[in-house]
Amino acid sequence: MSKILIIGAGGVANVTVHKCAQNPEVFSEILLASRTVAKCEAIAADVRRRTGRSVATARVDADRPAEVVALIRGFGPDLVANLALPYQDLAIMDACLETGVDYLDTANYEPPDEARFEYKWQWAYQERFAAKGIMALLGSGFDPGATNVFCAHAAKHHFDEIHELDIIDCNAGDHGQAFATNFNPEINIREVTARGRYWDRGEWLETDPLAWSMSYDFPAGIGPKKCYLMYHEELESLVLNLPGLKRARFWMTFGDSYLKHLEVLGNVGLTRIDPVDFGGMKIVPLQFLKTLLPDPASLGPKTRGKTCIGCLMRGVKDGKSKRYYVYNVCDHQAAYAETGSQAISYTTGVPAMIGAMLMLTGQWRGRGVFNMEQLDPDPFMDAMNRHGLPWTERTWND
Ligand code: NDP
Repeated sequence: MSKILIIGAGGVANVTVHKCAQNPEVFSEILLASRTVAKCEAIAADVRRRTGRSVATARVDADRPAEVVALIRGFGPDLVANLALPYQDLAIMDACLETGVDYLDTANYEPPDEARFEYKWQWAYQERFAAKGIMALLGSGFDPGATNVFCAHAAKHHFDEIHELDIIDCNAGDHGQAFATNFNPEINIREVTARGRYWDRGEWLETDPLAWSMSYDFPAGIGPKKCYLMYHEELESLVLNLPGLKRARFWMTFGDSYLKHLEVLGNVGLTRIDPVDFGGMKIVPLQFLKTLLPDPASLGPKTRGKTCIGCLMRGVKDGKSKRYYVYNVCDHQAAYAETGSQAISYTTGVPAMIGAMLMLTGQWRGRGVFNMEQLDPDPFMDAMNRHGLPWTERTWND
């Protein structure tokens, strides 16, 4: 029996709150707090309708650690799950340090004025969290999150050494909109328009944004799709924590229409993140664009199709070269029917609940700051099968 404070009330938080409510034996009390309290209340009302459980709500500006500290002191949670935006990571970690409460998130910190995510800011909390005897679990979503656990599972059960890793994220869903992003538009567009980056024989190499592509034939009836090489945050920790890794890359599928819109928006300056003058005010074009785009939460009822996110690996076992693919397929409409959110939010929100559950039940315990692959993958893999994200694996010889 434990109390969880969830911060942020977007699509991901909606799923996590629903999943926590479905597991009252672990999550006995839930407080959902965000900047716009009406969004928390709408989620709480939906959870009550579906599960009969009460979720408390509160307003908080998580950019202000003092507000988060006051909220934590008032509620007394065993864990704070940060499902707001990456910009809030450090402020919420500071509040957890001050109050001695465990921390979890789904995306690593990035400074608002620079589209550059790196773990260095959060890894810098290692000693202070350890000294305080508390734990921070970083990136407990799908990618990062389940993908890191897939690698730990492969390293534990299938390989003596993993040499090549390709994380491949396919969204074969269709929301019928001319242009929309599946999670927070600002974070999504910053990520997609960044330079590509991958690990190759001991060094990081870069490409122009979305300059490299490949076709991959996805399972579950999805078929071949074009995937683009991008930099993604889990590569940074996996390269450190998987000894022997020679090459690590991340790929994501995009439709032609999405890419054409993105190109035009970029060409006219609407994806810029530096402030510009507009009618005597300073505005950030990407933040302005975000206000015009569909709220990802509104895509739930419209999105049809599946996601398929997995890890393709090559390495050695007992002296033989071997290939291995582990993946989850998630159906947008099934996710929406269960929680009111589409599969992108679902595949992130369920691992956030699982990470929280493993920490609160003591199955994942440690002092300091952890990436997902540093912990035993077995209970996480088992929980994925039981809580809505079943996985499939295939092995074959080279
Ligand atoms: P949304 O934009 O839908 O929701 C973000 C929520 O955070 C909103 O409710 C917003 O409030 C709230 N928020 C923003 N700033 C503050 C603040 N200062 N104080 C309190 N609350 C705040 O995002 P998503 O739900 O799509 O994504 C949530 C997180 O999950 C993001 O960090 C995203 O990067 C991450 N993510 C991770 C994935 C993974 O696989 N690891 C995949 C997809 C997303 P308001 O409504 O007032 O704006």
